Amino acid sequence: MGRTELFSTRLSGATLDAVAGDNDPPRQRGGRHDQLECDSPRAMTETPDTAELIAAARAAAVNAHAPYSRFAVGAALLMRDGSVLTGTNFENASYGLSLCAETVAVAAANAQGRLREIVAVAVTGGAMDEAGRMRGDAVVSPCGRCRQVLNEVAQLAGLDLPIHCAAAEGDAVATYRLSELLPHAFGPADLGIF
Ligand SMILES: [Zn+2]
Repeated sequence: MGRTELFSTRLSGATLDAVAGDNDPPRQRGGRHDQLECDSPRAMTETPDTAELIAAARAAAVNAHAPYSRFAVGAALLMRDGSVLTGTNFENASYGLSLCAETVAVAAANAQGRLREIVAVAVTGGAMDEAGRMRGDAVVSPCGRCRQVLNEVAQLAGLDLPIHCAAAEGDAVATYRLSELLPHAFGPADLGIF
């Protein structure tokens, strides 16, 4: 931990072509998102790049249950073997019970016994239009609670996780290390647990 590096990048034109229409439900169009399924032979042999991880997060956001905030969020976790797990926000009529996309994704990793295998994170989000599609060109970063959740798995993995923050649309990406988003964090290491 402790590495501090902030940089922004822009996705290449070719990559943008690949992720165009990310707000379309993947089940309806097939293509690149399908290749990111965990059991995909490609996913097991090649590591998705940042653009592909963001594309997976955008695809997950299609399924956001966010009727209250109308703000969809998608998160994608790159696992050590190159596979990707995703999550999207899951709100509740009792507002305070709502779950964030990042937390849902980490819980999915936990359900597979893979908490220590997360090596990178992508998050994206934006206000939903009338058709329920995520819109906006401002990058979105994890909320404070999710930073703490991510810190749990980062310490378990012994990594200062890169967090790729993307907008709902467009090519702007801000990448941070978790230690930048949550400096001087309290975590399992403080309790002697690894
Ligand atoms: Zn959150």
